[in-house]
Amino acid sequence: MTTYTKYAAVALDLGFNKLLDYGIEEKDLALALPASVVEVPVRGFLRKGYIVKLKSKPDFSPVLPIHRVLFPLGDDLLKLISWMSRYYFVPFKKLFQAALPPIVRKKGKEKEQFFVTRKKSREELIALCISIREKNPAKAALLEVMLQVEKGLFLSELLAQSGKGQGAVTALVKEGALNLEKVVVDRSLLTHAEYFKTKPKVLNPSQNSALQAICKTLEATEFKTHLLFGITGSGKTEVYLQAIERALALGKSALVLVPEITLTTQLLERFLSRFDEPLAVWHSALSDGERFDTFQKIKRGDIRIVIGARSAVFCPLHNLGLIIVDEEHEASYKQSEEPPFYHARDTAIMRGKITAATVVLGSATPSLESFYNAKSGKYALSCLMSRAENSSLPSIRIVDMRKEFDKRKGFTNFSDVLLESIEKRLKNGEQTLLFLNRRGYHTSMLCLSCNSPIKCIHCDLSLTFYKNKPDLVCNLCGFKVPLPKKCPSCKGEAPFKFKGVGTEQIERSLHAVFPSVRTIRLDSDTTKHKGSHEKLLKAFGSGKADVLIGTQMIAKGLHFPEVTLVGILNSDSSLNIPDFRASETTFQLMMQVAGRAGRGMLKGEVVIQTFLPENPVIHLAANQNFEKFYEEEIETRRTFHYPPFSSMVKLIFSGLDEQEVLGVAERLREELEEALKGAFPPEHFIVHPVTAAGHAKVKDRYTFQFLVRLMKGGEGSGEYIIKFNTIFSLILKDKNKNLPPSVKVNLDVNPLSTFF
Ligand code: ADP
Ligand code: ZN
Repeated sequence: MTTYTKYAAVALDLGFNKLLDYGIEEKDLALALPASVVEVPVRGFLRKGYIVKLKSKPDFSPVLPIHRVLFPLGDDLLKLISWMSRYYFVPFKKLFQAALPPIVRKKGKEKEQFFVTRKKSREELIALCISIREKNPAKAALLEVMLQVEKGLFLSELLAQSGKGQGAVTALVKEGALNLEKVVVDRSLLTHAEYFKTKPKVLNPSQNSALQAICKTLEATEFKTHLLFGITGSGKTEVYLQAIERALALGKSALVLVPEITLTTQLLERFLSRFDEPLAVWHSALSDGERFDTFQKIKRGDIRIVIGARSAVFCPLHNLGLIIVDEEHEASYKQSEEPPFYHARDTAIMRGKITAATVVLGSATPSLESFYNAKSGKYALSCLMSRAENSSLPSIRIVDMRKEFDKRKGFTNFSDVLLESIEKRLKNGEQTLLFLNRRGYHTSMLCLSCNSPIKCIHCDLSLTFYKNKPDLVCNLCGFKVPLPKKCPSCKGEAPFKFKGVGTEQIERSLHAVFPSVRTIRLDSDTTKHKGSHEKLLKAFGSGKADVLIGTQMIAKGLHFPEVTLVGILNSDSSLNIPDFRASETTFQLMMQVAGRAGRGMLKGEVVIQTFLPENPVIHLAANQNFEKFYEEEIETRRTFHYPPFSSMVKLIFSGLDEQEVLGVAERLREELEEALKGAFPPEHFIVHPVTAAGHAKVKDRYTFQFLVRLMKGGEGSGEYIIKFNTIFSLILKDKNKNLPPSVKVNLDVNPLSTFF
């Protein structure tokens, strides 16, 4: 029986959950480390897996040796994944799959293509071309293309450009006129692009002190989170660029996370034109080939700057020194479509902690959690309070849509003020952005005489109206009330308003008012195809339209100097979402949209339409007063024990049989409550009732959920969550025998929404 000096417990990529032991041969000892991806024999087949841990003795014998070590994942990423597994309650394997895209784990290989070059001098080829033109037009056409290129081109391109077949190429190669060679093609993006280089700008004093603070921990290789709080246009990106420069000079690499939506050419150009070395982008729309090549280069250490969306937090950069999370408050950092429900910002901070990196969070409207951490000294805070260039802040008007309603005896999409302002822009040849918050598509009930939405008596949240149910329901605590005939606040019998207008309707009604207006619509319907988002923005940027109508997509990171008017059409719809983050989200969006106006030489104007003109959130956004907003909102959070004063875990149950799912949810809820009583002091947790999820039925699956609040924020809240997860996993394990496998149980730690 063969014995080995070391053994590895290997988790298979697919298949069983059990770990299998394999021996490590001498030649593989250096590479076979925890998190290395390996090929191992399983029942006569080779399977991919990864090493979970090394051991000196196998659990069983005889063992087979590892067939081949593909590559190591890296110690820091392994630690990161282990933490995520405990904190987010996700199987290791799922995280491993998130960290290593399928193409990297499976069949990826470098791409080979044929490259054609000239084998004779230009003059000789011209002569040849002329001499064969009559007899052999195909060959001549190929030569003509080859004479126009600088060095050479890919065979596929040559065939496409000339419109001729491969036979003629082969003939020319045989005759010694052309040369054909196999090359490996680099499909990672951006390496061939040439940009005018820009020099670092001379920083203003606030930028400079922010940069100094960042560089201090960067140079000391010290883990520290910095919050860079600065209005749009205050020069945050410039600070990022110079911090990265410093990191590179120190021999470290840098990771820049941005929300997927802002990963535009506009942003990339600024990075590409600053650095002399290649950088990589990493996001969901990369093709397999691009992804494979990019990954390999990062892995080899050939690339030291990565800009990417959420999943880039796993990029295997060497000697990572700086992690930047731009627009840190953005919801898209949280993976909420499918497990693992991780938050890339929080994961980035943990990665920084593991690798002793400096983490910079940037935002004009930081999340309440991050600002709280900065105020309480956990993060270092730097503020940039004025625009870096001389453009002034826009003037902002709030329009009371109730008055417009009275004037017209009915609902209208556009106020007179907004229509006049648009008309003025059309005359002057300036551009307009119209923003419509699509998140408001759930109906909420608004009393038209007192303008208040109907709210839960236990929570500071609006109640939700369900079309085929008699009651209004609170989705946080489960409170129910029959559909009222009278408004509970003003007792009036005025009609209630259900809301929900989409961008498409806006575009149509705008054309009805201005028949010749040129519009571009940017929302998830018009940007389905790869590249269409970019194309539409480019068209707008080059003046192909007067008005850009859009959802959140137009709120973020765009810079159009010709835009002098921004109209926010339904500013309050998102306030009525039954969620504790409703005010925060509304405030952030309005600030961001307003920030799009007047970014060039011309002064900007913002028109905010609202049914709630007295609402403080809208006023604070109109005054661009984040700190005041923060102070008020943080008090609400404190009073109601919402994050950051508590942690939340949402337990989600789904399945095809409504009653069965509900039964499982109720059963586990009861058991969990009992178990928590033994583990936490009674005032430290609340287990909420089971409710139907905001999307109660999706694709025939029913979803029920309940919320657990752990009354501990800040320091130690992570341990609370991990402790909670352990308790819950024991319950799940125990119940495995009679838990129907048809009911899926998921756990969302720090859910973005308590509703969906
Ligand atoms: P933010 O990222 O905060 O929105 P940017 O970094 O994009 O701000 O800066 C806004 C504009 O001001 C950009 O055109 C940028 O080139 C310019 N800018 C930034 N810092 C300076 C500076 N110190 N001096 C001159 N211009 C600057
Ligand atoms: Zn409630």
